[in-house]
Amino acid sequence: MRFRPIGLLLACACAAALCAAPALASRHVIVVSLDGLRPDVALRANMPAFRALMRRGAFTMYATTTDVAITLPSHTSMLTGVPPEQHGITYNADPRPVDRPAPEWPTLFEVAHQAGLSTAMAVGKSKFSVLCPAGALDTSFVPVRGSVYSDSAVAATAARWIATRRPQVLFVHLPGLDAIGHAKGWGSEEQVAGAEAVDRAFAAVLRAVAHAGLTDSTLVIVSADHGGAGKTHGGLDARSRLIPWIAAGPGVKHDFDLALLPATQVRTEDTFATAAAWMGITLEKPVVGRSVDEVFEGR
Ligand SMILES: [Zn+2]
Repeated sequence: MRFRPIGLLLACACAAALCAAPALASRHVIVVSLDGLRPDVALRANMPAFRALMRRGAFTMYATTTDVAITLPSHTSMLTGVPPEQHGITYNADPRPVDRPAPEWPTLFEVAHQAGLSTAMAVGKSKFSVLCPAGALDTSFVPVRGSVYSDSAVAATAARWIATRRPQVLFVHLPGLDAIGHAKGWGSEEQVAGAEAVDRAFAAVLRAVAHAGLTDSTLVIVSADHGGAGKTHGGLDARSRLIPWIAAGPGVKHDFDLALLPATQVRTEDTFATAAAWMGITLEKPVVGRSVDEVFEGR
């Protein structure tokens, strides 16, 4: 059971983040999800931006997603810090009238907004509208119902916002690898080749951070919502549940494999908790995720 008193969680996170950390008011966090990226596919593919972030940060190729390992429930856990049975988003499509219209737990955007931070979300799938509760997002780029945006369109939009609006909390979702997985198979030649284009989109986001002069004040967390096997994903199969997880930014260890720490296991809910703690957000509702303080120097 990983339920922790939230005060303790935040105290630990703040202690970690204080070393080499910019002032709270100047911090940014960007969470990037590469939809369907299985760790071994990332390591087989030509993904120079992904590899460079590993060298600049702390990482594990053994993080786990939720035990349903499908897109909308898993992303909701990534952005609420609790598993699907708590946030209640168990479907994986544009919501129907009978479906719960929003998560039962506050999203990262809601807690950030309540803390007075600016928020933005650029995503490739329309079902992410579930994560846009009224008033919680200052800026959003979400396809109309039933349609998709390409990786390059999502990345270009996020890059433009970073240059102009400088959102303090930004979520970016690149959908391309999942589509190739469903069409050609997880680990197929086509998917490994397609990862190169996804990486180029990802690189555009990181370039925008650097050009805006925000590298020294931005924590970047990169992960995925699930992997896959054959042309599908889901359930407890390790090929679906294992995901990469990288954190890079001020005060974060360089080229550090979290697998060196035998007690450390990163779950997708930890992305929410790590981002919230880094931004100094006080959480009123407890979460299952924990801030992965081991990524910071001195921890
Ligand atoms: Zn997905």
